[in-house]
Amino acid sequence: MLKESKERAGDLLTDLYIGGKAVAASDGGRFDVIDPASGEVIASVANGTVDDASAAVDAAAAAAADWAATAPRERGEILRRAFELMTADREELATLISLENGKSLADARSEVSYAAEFFRWYSEEAVRIEGVVVDAPSGSNRILVTRRPVGICVLVTPWNFPAAMATRKLAPALAAGCTAVLKPASDTPLTALALARILESAGVPSGVVNVLPARRSGPVVSTILHDERVRKLSFTGSTDVGRVLLREASDNIVNTSMELGGNAPFIVFGDADLDAAVDGAMVAKMRNAGEACTAANRFYIEASIANEFTRRLAERMNALTVGPGSEEATEVGPLINTAAVDKVDELVRDAVQKGARIATGGTRPEANGYFYSPTVLVDVTADADILGEEIFGPVAPIVTFETDDDAVRLANQTEYGLVAYVYTADLSRGLRVGERIEAGMIGLNRGLVSDPAAPFGGFKQSGVGREGGHEGVLDYTEPQYFAVDW
Ligand code: NAD
Repeated sequence: MLKESKERAGDLLTDLYIGGKAVAASDGGRFDVIDPASGEVIASVANGTVDDASAAVDAAAAAAADWAATAPRERGEILRRAFELMTADREELATLISLENGKSLADARSEVSYAAEFFRWYSEEAVRIEGVVVDAPSGSNRILVTRRPVGICVLVTPWNFPAAMATRKLAPALAAGCTAVLKPASDTPLTALALARILESAGVPSGVVNVLPARRSGPVVSTILHDERVRKLSFTGSTDVGRVLLREASDNIVNTSMELGGNAPFIVFGDADLDAAVDGAMVAKMRNAGEACTAANRFYIEASIANEFTRRLAERMNALTVGPGSEEATEVGPLINTAAVDKVDELVRDAVQKGARIATGGTRPEANGYFYSPTVLVDVTADADILGEEIFGPVAPIVTFETDDDAVRLANQTEYGLVAYVYTADLSRGLRVGERIEAGMIGLNRGLVSDPAAPFGGFKQSGVGREGGHEGVLDYTEPQYFAVDW
């Protein structure tokens, strides 16, 4: 399998990438990467140590001044080349993502396109980092504000979008003139290492981007965060780990961006176009087999249409082809590991035990890989754990409601606030309801919100800061204010 992927992915990097070089871990350690469709080992990757972490920061520090002084246009053109190289390598990268993450090739291809778009978007933003010149209100002087690169960044990414979560951070960091150490999830380090090669080919100088796979994430990231040269942490992952890292970042008052967990409500009002709502539900629920922070986690359907919506959704879920992501016919790949399947299964069992009915699915297909069947649950009771936790799997729990106020109250019954989906034929009702929902992003008659040109991020315990859009690049800058008398 690895041989096959090597042939397709070309020069597959499995060492650490520090200062523009592939290097072994300082203690020679390595760890296995597993194919979730078969449970087999597909590669052995260098396991970064705390000494390697310090070496990566040294490399980022050595490259920092020159990169910050590189003309914005040149930084933009390098990012543009990265977009083009990534687009040209789409098939190879999709194969690699599918191999180490398990997602279907269709999902992996979409991810490569989405990930590459961050390079294109920030190639354009690199030359639009604006400052301010205004008269001071007193009239006595001018206020001049410029934006400087924030400095060395540590970027920590999850396994569910191994390419896109990395480019969503690397692209704005590079556009702003920062250097970086990327710590990818240890389930999916190969894609991050492949990105390092793409950036190198695009012309990113040695040391500007360093990639540090490591199983000992805690000590490695902690070492980096406690190095005074490091000024920014951008983390995407679970809210629990985010909390730990916010505490760690407080020691040296490191700037932080946090893209954390979600528990998205998917609300369908009785006046909605039902075909569109079911199509949107399939995207919001089943993109990446449900392993997305934006995944619809709780379906709130107005009682008058709930039976029909459930029937149609169950029919569509039941028709999906589950199998290894690498097979062209597969629509739903395996989950990332056994623990993920156990968790999904436990949530389903708990809901059923508390009174829910299984409209379709609810089984673990017999296979070596980590599969779970697409599942729809109805009559889910308010005390079911599945409504309060991130499912991160292909399960749609359905609850009915009667009024707009009910829908809003139920949607907000969570500590998360990343995204919500609202389906209605009445645009003003959709906007009114959307404004009452505590979420950073609202999909209004749309099951997909992710867009490199838009500010992605959450309210409440779903995070701090935004990635994408113009906001995304500003998060990698520090404003510097001059009080000027001229
Ligand atoms: P995770 O929090 O377990 O791990 C994320 C990253 O942090 C990985 O690289 C991991 O190795 C590292 N890590 C783990 N423990 C650490 C520690 N103590 N110190 C430093 N680093 C540590 O999350 P995951 O399981 O990889 O990803 C799934 C989670 O990510 C879900 O909660 C999902 O909602 C969230 N997510 C959020 C977004 C978003 O944009 N808001 C996007 C994708 C995923």
